[in-house]
Amino acid sequence: MAVLPVYNTLVVPEGNTFIQTDYYKKTTGRNPVPDERIILLVLKENIHRDKWTPESFYPIGLVGQISEIHEEGYLLVHGNYRANIEEVTIYPGGQLDVSISHRPDTDERDSEDEARRLKEIKRAVVKFSEGFQWGQAIRGLVARWSSISEAAAALSPWMMNTNEERYAVLAEDSVLRRDTVMEQMIYENLEMSRIKGEAQSAQEEDHQKIYRETAIKKQIEYLQQELDDMHPENVSDVRRFEVKIQESGMNETARKEADKVLNRLKQEGKNSAEYGMLYDYLDFLTTLSWKKEEASYIDLGQAEKVLDEDHFGLGKVKDRIIQQIAVMNLKHQQSGSILCFVGAPGTGKTSIGQSIARALRREYVRVSLGGVRDEADIRGHRRTYIGAMPGRLMDGIHKSGVSNPVVVLDEVDKLSQSYNGDPASALLEVLDPEQNHTFTDHYMNVPYDLSGVLFICTANTLDTIPEPLLNRMEVIRFQGYTPREKYEIAMRHLLPKAREAVGLQEGSLEISEEALKTVISDYTRESGVRGLKKRMDTLCRKAAVEIVKAQAAGEEAPVVHVEKDNIRDYLEDHPIRHGRVKDTARPGVVTGLAWTSVGGEILYIETLLTEGKGNVTVTGQLGDVMKESAQLAVSLVKSLFPKEAAQLKDHDLHIHVPDGSTPKDGPSAGITLTTALSSLLTGVPVTPRVAMTGEISLQGTVEPIGGLPEKLMAAERAGVEKVFIPADNEDDLRDVPAEVKDRLTICPVHRAEEVLQALNILSEA
Ligand code: ADP
Repeated sequence: MAVLPVYNTLVVPEGNTFIQTDYYKKTTGRNPVPDERIILLVLKENIHRDKWTPESFYPIGLVGQISEIHEEGYLLVHGNYRANIEEVTIYPGGQLDVSISHRPDTDERDSEDEARRLKEIKRAVVKFSEGFQWGQAIRGLVARWSSISEAAAALSPWMMNTNEERYAVLAEDSVLRRDTVMEQMIYENLEMSRIKGEAQSAQEEDHQKIYRETAIKKQIEYLQQELDDMHPENVSDVRRFEVKIQESGMNETARKEADKVLNRLKQEGKNSAEYGMLYDYLDFLTTLSWKKEEASYIDLGQAEKVLDEDHFGLGKVKDRIIQQIAVMNLKHQQSGSILCFVGAPGTGKTSIGQSIARALRREYVRVSLGGVRDEADIRGHRRTYIGAMPGRLMDGIHKSGVSNPVVVLDEVDKLSQSYNGDPASALLEVLDPEQNHTFTDHYMNVPYDLSGVLFICTANTLDTIPEPLLNRMEVIRFQGYTPREKYEIAMRHLLPKAREAVGLQEGSLEISEEALKTVISDYTRESGVRGLKKRMDTLCRKAAVEIVKAQAAGEEAPVVHVEKDNIRDYLEDHPIRHGRVKDTARPGVVTGLAWTSVGGEILYIETLLTEGKGNVTVTGQLGDVMKESAQLAVSLVKSLFPKEAAQLKDHDLHIHVPDGSTPKDGPSAGITLTTALSSLLTGVPVTPRVAMTGEISLQGTVEPIGGLPEKLMAAERAGVEKVFIPADNEDDLRDVPAEVKDRLTICPVHRAEEVLQALNILSEA
């Protein structure tokens, strides 16, 4: 026996149930056979086959028989008797098997009464159908009804009763009561249809128009699809965008805007300038990723491994990054605090951003902000401009193809302001988690959610980063590398990469340790390794030329050896004359330490007395800042050495601070100036192997300075042996590489007198 589930259909003994032939085939897995017996199971709710359980069916069903099979695609099942459903078995694919038992009716009908009621029903239905187009056919059908069940089942498809109400009829044991309920159902439905009909006629005209319009549209769509299928190469732009807008998953606002632009595109000729602009816009919007990515769990060990693979050293930085990843894991977030990497060029700030992306298995985008003056560079141009473009940020995200890339905002310190708005304020919005889920690029003109983006900023200095922007970020310093670290970086990373870039075999170029150290010390002057990378590239290119020449001459490929003695054959640059400290000491000249954009540097503060009338001249780079610092030092020295200072009255004092590479922190030469002046006035020379750094106050206290690690590294490199530093900077010594600390005698001081006494300029009181 075939078992069929039915839903929202009235199934009763004596009634005829319509079943779609397709449905029958799908559910039973076979073709209908005339007179075949069928069990109809009533579904409690209309759910898909995959979800059926035995509880999905009501406990009473109907056993019937296929009475007619129509070619139009349906069959009639005549209901025989009701059955208790004892057990339902559901096979994969939705095939059903049930065991049933006959459920008897109780019958107290009076046949005469029954006939009269049926007649009434027939009359009512015929009357109702009078104005109908199908009235005639309905009357033919009605004439064949021989019971109330038959009438109700035939009308069932039009009846507005719920599934429960229909089932309640089947579940009724008394035939008399069943008939009464069905009779009531028929009359109610006739009445409802009548009311609905009246209400409808008023709206009919409107509806008719809508139906017609929809029908025409469907027709067009269908024809267009046929055309597209015939000529896929010609699928019109409009149609393609229609599909792409559908599939892009963009938000409501974006969708509206896209639809609006698409409508304009439809009206434009293909060759107009406007068309191109609209096309570009839609192309941008539909190829942007609108999909929200899930935050995935990142294995910390794995992430650490990736970071170590790409970069040597940078332990503190890597630690901080791992912390960030751990927090992101815990909070199931795609982003966290905004890190700002600060340090000299070539210290690996940008490239570690790339490693972070790799560690997180996310896309990487670099947005260069250097020289950005226009707000539009960040936020895009409004589309009213010819040649309008999205801003750099959205452009980068677009290219990444995802909504959650790691974005490195390079050189935030090089943002500048102009009459065209303030790019920093646009950036503020980008970085503010409160606002950035609805960032609106002017070109896009619709909000885009940036909350899944992990932002990392890089900068050479914090001085020029606008305060509000800086407040949003967590600063991580990149100290610069010691020669030892540079050596390791060159051996492990730079050289292999350079070799690979020019296609050199591993054994074909050999650089001795001594040679590489010379390259580091004499051919580069930097905190980072950018220059060193260039030198490695040059070496490899030169070696490549040598090898290719040998091959061309038919010789065996040589192994190129670079030694300390022959470096100059390979590197065109002149070796840098490093600020090695001088050997001779002269009164009035003292070694200072400067912090420049390429790291630390030593410099000499020179002072000289000439015949004159007590004028003070300051020359050199630092201008006003230095002048103030010089005046302060002069006053302090006068108070410390009242007797010697008398000569200042009939002499001119000249102070010179050489330019070197542009030092950034003038005032920190205060203690050096004081010492140089004291040495000049007392005639006590100070050995150049002693250097110092520190600001000074009028009371003679030595105040803290910045860039201590870089300064000490420069001092060590230049051959300085002893350095005075402000006592308040002692904490910074933690960041100074051990090898540097080992080779320097570092003396923290509180007051200028301590320095002067240590140098025997001032006698101990
Ligand atoms: P920055 O952004 O600080 O100016 P980059 O990230 O551009 O520096 O680094 C310059 C080059 O030096 C890159 O090729 C980078 O891979 C390399 N580099 C810098 N630091 C390291 C390091 N610790 N280990 C390996 N390579 C490094």
